[in-house]
Amino acid sequence: MYAVAIDGPAGAGKSTISRAAAKAIGFLYVDTGALYRAVAYDILQNQIDPTDQKAVCGRLSAIEVHFGYEGSEQQVYLNQENVTDKLRTPQVSAAASSVSAIGAVRQFLFSQQQDIARENNIIMDGRDIGTFVLPNAQVKIYLTATAEERARRRFEELRQKGETVDFQHVLADLKKRDENDMNRDVSPLRQAPDAIVVDTSQMDFAQSVQAILKIIEKKIGQGKK
Ligand code: C5P
Repeated sequence: MYAVAIDGPAGAGKSTISRAAAKAIGFLYVDTGALYRAVAYDILQNQIDPTDQKAVCGRLSAIEVHFGYEGSEQQVYLNQENVTDKLRTPQVSAAASSVSAIGAVRQFLFSQQQDIARENNIIMDGRDIGTFVLPNAQVKIYLTATAEERARRRFEELRQKGETVDFQHVLADLKKRDENDMNRDVSPLRQAPDAIVVDTSQMDFAQSVQAILKIIEKKIGQGKK
C-alpha cells in the first residue's frame, strides 16, 4: 500500500488540495481533522468545556467515532450519526484544537488512522501524520502558506457560506490554533525531517495540486496516469 502524509497548519488548503490530488491518482483521501472535530462536536453538544481534560477524558468512553465512505467522499460517524456536515464551524474548530492537545484523545483516534492506511492507498492529511501516525509513509509533505494568506482563504470560504465574519477575527483564531497545535506536549505540529515543504502562498489551487502530484510522481511514480 502507498501512503502520502500531508501535514501543515490550519487553513493551508490541505483538505481541498489533498482531496483533488487523491482523486487524480485514485487514492482514498483521509481527513484526520474530521475525527478530532467529531470528538469536539460531541463535547460541545454535552456542554463540556473542551479545555477541561478530566471532563473530556471522562466522556470518551461514551463516544464512538468512525470513518465511512460514500463513493470517494469521506463521512464521519459519531455514535452512528453522520455528523460530517456539522463539523466545519468556527466553534468546532476551536474546540477541536483544544481536545486534540489531550493525549488520551489522540490515543483514542490513533488506531483508526493506522487501520485505514493499512488497507488502502491513501493521501492522509493532519498535523502529525508524517511524524507520528504514519512514520513510514513513502511520501511526506508539509503544506503551508503565510498566516495572512491562510486567513484570507478561510475568510472567503466562510463568507461564501453566508457567515458574517471579520477578517481580523479569522486571523486571530487561526494564529491561536497554530500556536496550540505547534506548542502542545503531545504530537505537536512539526515538519517531519524527511518531509518536502510546499508553500502555497503564491500558488493558486490548480498549481498547488500539480505541485503535490509532481512530488508523488517523483517518489512513487503514480502522480499521473
Ligand atoms: O485539519 P482540521 O483543521 O480540520 O483539524 C482540526 C483540529 O484538529 C486542528 O486544529 C488540530 O488541532 C487537530 N488535529 C490534530 N491532528 C491531526 C488533525 C487535526 O491535532 N492529525
